[in-house]
Amino acid sequence: MAYTLADLERDVLPTLEAYCAIPALSPHFEPDWSTSGHLDAAAQLLAEWVAVRLPDADVRLERLAGRTPLLLVDVPAHGVSTDETVVLYGHLDKQPPLGEWSEGLAPFSPVRRGNRLYARGAADDGYSTFAAVSALEQVRHRGASHPRCVLLIEASEESGSPDLEAYLDHLGDVLGRVELMICLDSGALSYDRLWVTSSLRGLVNVDVTVSVLERAQHSGSASGVVPSSFRLLRQLLDRVENSATGEVLLNEAHCPIPAWVSDANADVARQFGDVIAQEMPTLDGVELMGADAADRLLRRTWKPALSVIGLAGAPEPRQAGNVLRTSTTATLSLRLPPLVDSERAAAALVETLSQNPPEGAHVEVVLGSAASGWAASELPARLRDTLEEASLTSYGAPLAFTGEGGTIPFLYQLGQRYPGVPFIATGVLGPESNAHGIDEMLDLDAVVHLVNSLAHLLSHLGGNQ
Ligand SMILES: [Zn+2]
Repeated sequence: MAYTLADLERDVLPTLEAYCAIPALSPHFEPDWSTSGHLDAAAQLLAEWVAVRLPDADVRLERLAGRTPLLLVDVPAHGVSTDETVVLYGHLDKQPPLGEWSEGLAPFSPVRRGNRLYARGAADDGYSTFAAVSALEQVRHRGASHPRCVLLIEASEESGSPDLEAYLDHLGDVLGRVELMICLDSGALSYDRLWVTSSLRGLVNVDVTVSVLERAQHSGSASGVVPSSFRLLRQLLDRVENSATGEVLLNEAHCPIPAWVSDANADVARQFGDVIAQEMPTLDGVELMGADAADRLLRRTWKPALSVIGLAGAPEPRQAGNVLRTSTTATLSLRLPPLVDSERAAAALVETLSQNPPEGAHVEVVLGSAASGWAASELPARLRDTLEEASLTSYGAPLAFTGEGGTIPFLYQLGQRYPGVPFIATGVLGPESNAHGIDEMLDLDAVVHLVNSLAHLLSHLGGNQ
């Protein structure tokens, strides 16, 4: 008896679509979130749905002053008496739309095409609450048992989880004796099997502003005399990154790459080909970085990389006059390998950009956030076997592991709090899911398979064979 697409369409889709229609942007993108009420509305919607689906669960909307809400669902053990707890994590806040979506699609008007649902926050990470609850229902439906499960659905993840620590402090020992953490906010290299995340990168964000003038000047009179703030910004960036190769030059942003990582990437490349090249909508003729498929996997998961994700101080091209501008600001995103200490890397980045300002320019560097990456420790053999069975029965294909290039601050934070507790990070962010980009897509079949896998896992933990 397996969970099916029909189950999902009947029990989940109407509420999931209602959730997709709420522009519940993460607080970083909507500082006014408490007045707009979108995060609260999304949390409320999920809480009400969960309370109907799991009548025996304690469904709590936690609200600490000045913090985004946290949905906590405490599901008592079913059919088994054990005080061990499984924590399932997801988030309900969303990235902004980013730009114009493709013809017929829009960020907050969900559209279904075939078995794909297009909307912001559907795959990252709105589906998580629905998948976790559906898996628990499925276990019960099969007459099986499951251990106590606590769902933690937070609302600040896309801002770097600034509120999560405060809630973990506030909750105290509500989580009890945690035997396993399951994070449902991660990725998959394909939709044909269960993927477990073996590592995540860390992330540092800074704003750097280079200022040269009190007032903008006619470029005919100032250029060639007053240094351009953009040129000086380029010099600063060259301290951090080799602009010819993209190599990050800060020692503090590198860590040794374990041999097992290189071996695992080579295996994935052999089996799945150049998965990263295939998933990127690269323009004709654009050469990818990295020597081959395995090297690209390594670069995405265990090497640092710099991106300029925001620029200010210049008008839109149509409004541009021949002016030497007063300043240029760049928002930098520095992805860090899993084992790099993000605080240390952030301090090195700020210092590198701040010291000896070129040509006496005024340089201001503002540190946004710093989050460390994470590398999974090896899963206990029994757990690994159970996941293997879950993948084989739910997908008909064996389990696979891969590193992810993104960052989930939660994993590092909880890893510090619960040392020795095994973590499973998985999710539906596979090919064309476009999380953070335009046209975010949730593969509904992927959700169905994942629900079945979770049900398998939870019922095993509940003592069923
Ligand atoms: Zn996410």
